[in-house]
Amino acid sequence: MEKLILLGTGNAGVTECYNTCFAILSEDKYFLVDAGGGNGILTQLKHAKISLNALHHVFVSHSHTDHILGVIWVMRMIGAKMAEKNYCGNLNIYCHNDLVDKLISMAKFTLTNNITKLIGERIIIHSLEDGDSREILDYNVQFFDIHSKKLTQFGFSLFLKNGKRFTFIGDEPYNESEYQYANQVDWLLHEAFCLYSERDIFSPYKKHHATVKEACETAEKLNIKNLVLYHTEDKNILQRKELYTKEGTPFYSGSLFVPDDLEVIDL
Ligand SMILES: [Zn+2]
Repeated sequence: MEKLILLGTGNAGVTECYNTCFAILSEDKYFLVDAGGGNGILTQLKHAKISLNALHHVFVSHSHTDHILGVIWVMRMIGAKMAEKNYCGNLNIYCHNDLVDKLISMAKFTLTNNITKLIGERIIIHSLEDGDSREILDYNVQFFDIHSKKLTQFGFSLFLKNGKRFTFIGDEPYNESEYQYANQVDWLLHEAFCLYSERDIFSPYKKHHATVKEACETAEKLNIKNLVLYHTEDKNILQRKELYTKEGTPFYSGSLFVPDDLEVIDL
């Protein structure tokens, strides 16, 4: 049984949902991908019934606030459990090379010594280079540089146990450098900042983001079987699923998912 648990689906500025982050569940183990912008990650994990004790692998895509600050909270809470001898094994955090020192500095500024002293001992930060693979939850996860023009950001691709391929390309639109990781995959997670019809309201292009229509056109071109849209604005939150699905469907013939926070998708 493999599931995608959307913990958050919003962009950096949302207040009606949590920032985009998710967990892949395989058997009874979780792989957390980003952690949103703060201690709301604890609320989302609680609502998703993900125990911190079952969380041993976290990937951080990049250092923007809406992705990394929740990781500090995960370190804090799991570190405290370790100190209380209430957590078995290690916490593994994976991030690209340039992020390692930043993450350690942030932890040192914000966490107490009884937690930061665990870094390198039981909180293991794994430095990634473009194209590196790591074994996580019995998956061979291949990480790659998405070649962001804003700030170094990594995505990853893996083959699920059911043979399907799952690719995460971070919070920027697909670009050609990701072709080998994204072409014809079974699952593509792609950001969609807002509706194309509302591009003048939300200015997605200024922020290097795409709209629902464009994400769907990209997925159609790449022959994606299942497309998950997230990292959106939240002004339409109650109608988001309906409005985004309606706009995207004419441009995409695969299965389109516009999940709400805490929605669970069978992979
Ligand atoms: Zn973001």
